[in-house]
Amino acid sequence: MSETIFSKIINREIDADIVHEDDQCLAFRDINAQAPMHILVIPKKPIDMLVNAQADDQALLGHLLLTARQVARNEGYGEAFRLVVNNGEAVGQSVFHLHVHILGGRDFSWPPG
Ligand code: AMP
Repeated sequence: MSETIFSKIINREIDADIVHEDDQCLAFRDINAQAPMHILVIPKKPIDMLVNAQADDQALLGHLLLTARQVARNEGYGEAFRLVVNNGEAVGQSVFHLHVHILGGRDFSWPPG
């Protein structure tokens, strides 16, 4: 996988407002927040998009979700938050390093736009 802005954040080549880090993932505030809470959780393993995750990534993918839940709790939005994974340019993926958006703190419509 080629280098992305997110791998540069993992490697501390560029700054980010990091709210969580462990051996498997990193969570940091989105630079263009779409809600009062807008945080991205990314695996340290370079997976470009969900469709390319492998069967042996199962535990890692679960870890991303449980981390997202904990981050939402830490931010004070543990009771109501939305998780989004854009997979593919056609649905809005712009950074090709897997990431889970955690959004909260305002009303959200359904279906999503
Ligand atoms: P997506 O469109 O699903 O690929 O989401 C990529 C997200 O990364 C967007 O919401 C961007 O605002 C966010 N983003 C891009 N560059 C940075 C950065 N340097 N620090 C934090 N968030 C970023």
